[in-house]
Amino acid sequence: MADDSLAIERKDEDFGKCKYGCEHYRRRCRIRAPCCNQVFTCRHCHNEATSSLSNPKDHHELVRHEVKQVICAVCDTEQEVARVCSNCGVNMGEYFCSICKFYDDETAKQQFHCDECGICRVGGRENFFHCPTCGSCYTISLRDNHLCVENSMKGHCPVCYEYLFDSVKGTSILKCGHTIHMDCLREMAMQNQYRCPLCSKAAVNMSDNWRMLDDEAPFHIFGLKCSHCRSYNTRRISAVEQPDVATVPSEEEHED
Ligand SMILES: [Zn+2]
Ligand SMILES: [Zn+2]
Ligand SMILES: [Zn+2]
Ligand SMILES: [Zn+2]
Ligand SMILES: [Zn+2]
Ligand SMILES: [Zn+2]
Ligand SMILES: [Zn+2]
Ligand SMILES: [Zn+2]
Repeated sequence: MADDSLAIERKDEDFGKCKYGCEHYRRRCRIRAPCCNQVFTCRHCHNEATSSLSNPKDHHELVRHEVKQVICAVCDTEQEVARVCSNCGVNMGEYFCSICKFYDDETAKQQFHCDECGICRVGGRENFFHCPTCGSCYTISLRDNHLCVENSMKGHCPVCYEYLFDSVKGTSILKCGHTIHMDCLREMAMQNQYRCPLCSKAAVNMSDNWRMLDDEAPFHIFGLKCSHCRSYNTRRISAVEQPDVATVPSEEEHED
């Protein structure tokens, strides 16, 4: 709260860092939605609120690039999109993207903006490259090492039907080139299903060098190693190893 609206109290840039925000992001501002002129902490808050409106005609999604105005969470001053509050001087987001109008105090997520994707992603720029054919960023272990499918990321997950390109969840590429959420893939593996839901091809090419599976975290999902013979057996259902690196960086978002 500003104690006196006339006195401009300049604060340290780091003041209030990680102390404000919503369930999606720690950020020191709220955004004015250009579509409905209402104020929300983030576009997910906006989208959740509008999708729960009783009239389906009111349902709409906020276009992040069109946000023009933000309100500083520290001093409540509405102003044009910028990193630093023009009134109190705090960083409204430790990470700030002027293209996505995106703010996030939690920089441990290693946000970066990909010009070709046109959005911010998480996971560290140095860990990913942009594949122009697939139309998305992939982990560098997939460079020259994946089946390119034109705009493969501009489709929906075959399990849950969510649009993959800007999904906040990690995505994996199957051997056939089709893409799917890692969580949904894991879910399938739990049910002993190892075929691509779209083309029914085996999700893992069994003629592949087993050694390679060891080196590629993203494919460990299907690399269920038999502790007796040390070969990989796609029929086993026990403990599925969780890869710690997403094949495709999720969008800027939180992981839930
Ligand atoms: Zn709106
Ligand atoms: Zn939010
Ligand atoms: Zn301020
Ligand atoms: Zn961005
Ligand atoms: Zn990209
Ligand atoms: Zn590709
Ligand atoms: Zn899915
Ligand atoms: Zn497929």
